[in-house]
Amino acid sequence: MGIFKNAIDSIVLGIEDYNSDDPRRILSSTRNLVAGILLLIKHRLAELSPSGSDEVLIKQRVLPVLDASDGVAWKGEGKKTVDVQQMKERSDSLGITVDWKRVEKIVKHRNDIEHYFSSLNHSALKGLLSDSFIIIRDFLRTELCLDPLVALGEETWSTLTEVSEIFIKEKAECLDNMESIEWEHPFLKEAITEWVCKKCGSFLIDVEEPHVEPESVTFKCRSCGEKYDYETGAEGAIKEYYVTENYIAAKEGGDPVTAECPNCFREAYHLSEDVCLICGESVERRCQRCYTSIPSCELDGSGYCSWCNHMMSKDD
Ligand SMILES: [Zn+2]
Ligand SMILES: [Zn+2]
Ligand SMILES: [Zn+2]
Repeated sequence: MGIFKNAIDSIVLGIEDYNSDDPRRILSSTRNLVAGILLLIKHRLAELSPSGSDEVLIKQRVLPVLDASDGVAWKGEGKKTVDVQQMKERSDSLGITVDWKRVEKIVKHRNDIEHYFSSLNHSALKGLLSDSFIIIRDFLRTELCLDPLVALGEETWSTLTEVSEIFIKEKAECLDNMESIEWEHPFLKEAITEWVCKKCGSFLIDVEEPHVEPESVTFKCRSCGEKYDYETGAEGAIKEYYVTENYIAAKEGGDPVTAECPNCFREAYHLSEDVCLICGESVERRCQRCYTSIPSCELDGSGYCSWCNHMMSKDD
C-alpha cells in the first residue's frame, strides 16, 4: 500500500501546487505530477511481484536465487528502482497497459521545464495536466480497477478534468487554424502542430490570422503571447521535431534528416524528401562533374561537390 499512497499523495500535491497563486510552485507541480504517475505504474509492478521476491519487478538489479525446491527464482537486490525505460520493458512484457507515448512526453516536458523555459506560467502547464489526466484516468480504471474520483478526491479530480477539457478545446482551435493554411510540406505541418513555445513551454501555439499565405503567417503562443514570424517559427518547429534523429546522426555518423537550405539558409532542407520544408527549394544532389552524391554538409545549390568546386576554381 506504501507506493500507492505515495503516488496518490504526489498527484494531489501536484494539483495543489497548480491551484496555488505562487509562481514558484509551478515547477513543483510538474515534478509532483510526473513522480505520482511513475509511482502508480511502479505500484502495479510491485503488486505483480511474487511474494518473497523483494518487489523484484521494481528493482534495477535482479539476481537469480535457488528456492526451497532447488528451482531458480528471481529476487530484487539493493535499493535502486527501475528507470522509465525498464518500467516500459517490464510493463510491455507483462501486458500492463500504459500510454507510454504520453508518459515519455510528460517526462521529457518536465526535464525541459527544469532547464529551458524562461517564462513559465500557469497557462503553459495546461498541456501537461491534460496528458496527466488521460494517463491517470486510464491507468486507474483499466489497470487498478479504481474510480479516479474516489481514488484522488473531488478537488484533485475536478481540476484535472476541467483543465484538460479547456486544453483539448483550445488545442483543437489551434489545429483548426493551422489547417486553414497551405503549408509548404505536410512534414512542416506535423512539426508545427507538435511544437512547444520556446519561451514558456506551452503546447498552445496558434496562428495570429488563419487563411493566409504561409509566408505571412505569424505564430502566437496562447499562453504567454510570444510571437514568431513564419521562418523563425517554422525553423524552430522543424529543429525540435527532428532533434533526436539529428542528434543521433551527429553522434554516430550518417546523414541527418535535415540540413541548412542553400536557398533560405534555414535548417529546414529535408534530405530524403529532397526539398526545403520552408521555402520549397529543391537542389541537385548529385555532383554534375564527378557524379558522386554531394554530402549534406556541402549542399550549396551549385550542383557540384566541394572538391569539384575547388578543382574548377583552379582551372579558371
Ligand atoms: Zn509561450
Ligand atoms: Zn529553404
Ligand atoms: Zn564532384
